[in-house]
Amino acid sequence: MPDHDTEMMSPRDVLKSVFGFDHFRGLQEEAINALMRGEDVLLLMPTGGGKSLCYQLPALCRPGMGLVVSPLIALMEDQVAGLRQAGVRAAALHSELAYEERLVLWEQLRRSEIDILFISPERLLASATLEFLKKCSLSLIAIDEAHCVSAWGHDFRPEYRELSILVTHFPGIPRIALTATADERTRLDLLKVLDMPRALVLTASFHRPNLYLEAQPKYSETRQLITALETKFTEGAAIIYCGSRRRTERISAFLNEKGYTALPFHAGLSPLEKKALLTRFRSGESLIVVATIAFGMGIDRPDVRLVVHMDMPHSPEAYYQQIGRAGRDGERAQALLLYGGDDVARARYWLDQAAVPDSERHVMRSRLEKMIALTETVHCRTKTVLACFGEEMEVSCGHCDNCRYPVATFNGIEAAQKVMSAIYRSGERFGSVLIAHILRGRRNEVIERYQLDKLSVFGIGKEKSELWWRMIIRQLVANGAVKLGNDHGGLALDREKARPLLRGEGELSLKEDNNLAQTYGRFAEAVRTETNLTSYEQILFAALKDWRREEAREQDIPPYIIFHDAVLRDIALAKPRTLSELGVVKGVGKSKLERYGKAVVDIIENPQA
Ligand code: ADP
Ligand code: ZN
Repeated sequence: MPDHDTEMMSPRDVLKSVFGFDHFRGLQEEAINALMRGEDVLLLMPTGGGKSLCYQLPALCRPGMGLVVSPLIALMEDQVAGLRQAGVRAAALHSELAYEERLVLWEQLRRSEIDILFISPERLLASATLEFLKKCSLSLIAIDEAHCVSAWGHDFRPEYRELSILVTHFPGIPRIALTATADERTRLDLLKVLDMPRALVLTASFHRPNLYLEAQPKYSETRQLITALETKFTEGAAIIYCGSRRRTERISAFLNEKGYTALPFHAGLSPLEKKALLTRFRSGESLIVVATIAFGMGIDRPDVRLVVHMDMPHSPEAYYQQIGRAGRDGERAQALLLYGGDDVARARYWLDQAAVPDSERHVMRSRLEKMIALTETVHCRTKTVLACFGEEMEVSCGHCDNCRYPVATFNGIEAAQKVMSAIYRSGERFGSVLIAHILRGRRNEVIERYQLDKLSVFGIGKEKSELWWRMIIRQLVANGAVKLGNDHGGLALDREKARPLLRGEGELSLKEDNNLAQTYGRFAEAVRTETNLTSYEQILFAALKDWRREEAREQDIPPYIIFHDAVLRDIALAKPRTLSELGVVKGVGKSKLERYGKAVVDIIENPQA
């Protein structure tokens, strides 16, 4: 903002003139007002909720420079590029800055020519920087991705804990901590470590209505993955989360064979390889990243349309954080979780064996159990996941798998007894596939080698399919009556939980898995009817995207920093013929209007040019 003219303006005016928005969203106004009054704030808002504006606006409207602590260089650079597009004098100070760039930046800082400075915690805590910043006039300090202070979170960064010293070095400067992690424990930890006892705690709803949740039991994981990509992924990016490095390599190789552009990402890549992948990912190219959880924070590409979990995450928190990377632009995005009884049994087994203190094991176990319940739930999946964070949704979401295709349940006690007898009589050493074979009375080499066909349970379940029996076994694992008995995937009974079932006490409600083929067909339809542009508007939209790609290439920034898809779509719908008509479109601020207005209006006038 040349000459700091925003300092005299109200946040609402700056919202319109700089960012092009007419209204605040959700808790933005409350957070901003508190900071304007000089108070501390802890803001918990889901990904894509609009956290950045909450510090950007008061940083511009209060006198002095806004200081934003951020854990990742990629995150800082996106924010800086975005703000510069809006005409704000933003900069980032981190370890990758070249010597000359750093000199220029220091000079600008000395002359108070920066409105918002992004900084890594290491840089900020270096004594020279700290001494310098103490002499500057600061409007506020924002701590982005604040859950990094907590060892309970999944992105713990030791440097973040040192941020406790901010309050002594910058007394009286309002601070805002921002995170998308909803966990209560993390929240308390955060307030304590950052020493913000009087902070106004604002918690937004974590409901993301544009996320379409679905979970499928694994029958043939690669076929299920391909079907998901075919029906739910037409543009933008997709992220496929896997439980191990090996799997990321294998699955991305498989997808490339099938003609998809897929790249593996895991902690074993060299820094250079990682950087190359991130650059490609941020370029706006349509592609699939097959990743471990190492691919996480800083992934703020807005058009991730699909997130698939090939393996079950170990907590609802991790699950929700990972699927939260989809649909940041507010447009529809799909999340598909593939899970199997083996994942569940193995996760429980390893947790029992893990060398962690009991108190920690206890917390991990309760999270894991919640996650397992979430996979098998027959109720609204959105509602169930939000309940894990203590949020109560009044009505069902209407668009998760269980809402759209309600699941039939039945009393499964008899089936359970057959399964448990087969497990017990075969010596509690075989996995679900073989147990299903025994029940079906199928002869093969293993059955004969162990003489399993001599057992009384052999063939007692002929009337049902093998898949059907595996569905029962999987649910008994989730329920806890069946568990992993050894390191080789052998199933065993949990005596305590199995006993009442074997005695036939009470009911056991099991669900009948939906016919997958049918579900897929309906999904494909839902995705296709999504765009509501006329064919002429689609031509405009495509022309605008072509222009944006070219413009982004010239400026060497990701295309979405210029305009999001949603903004281009709104422009195609509104077909503005003048700059002032264009200025009314949501997401078109003054600076972008000046920069791009003419080009955009020209395209609307003549999209073929
Ligand atoms: P978060 O950091 O919480 O993940 P962002 O700050 O990146 O979310 O905002 C997500 C998207 O919402 C951005 O595209 C942003 O421009 C948009 N946005 C934020 N606030 C508003 C608002 N008041 N009106 C319209 N769009 C908004
Ligand atoms: Zn639902």
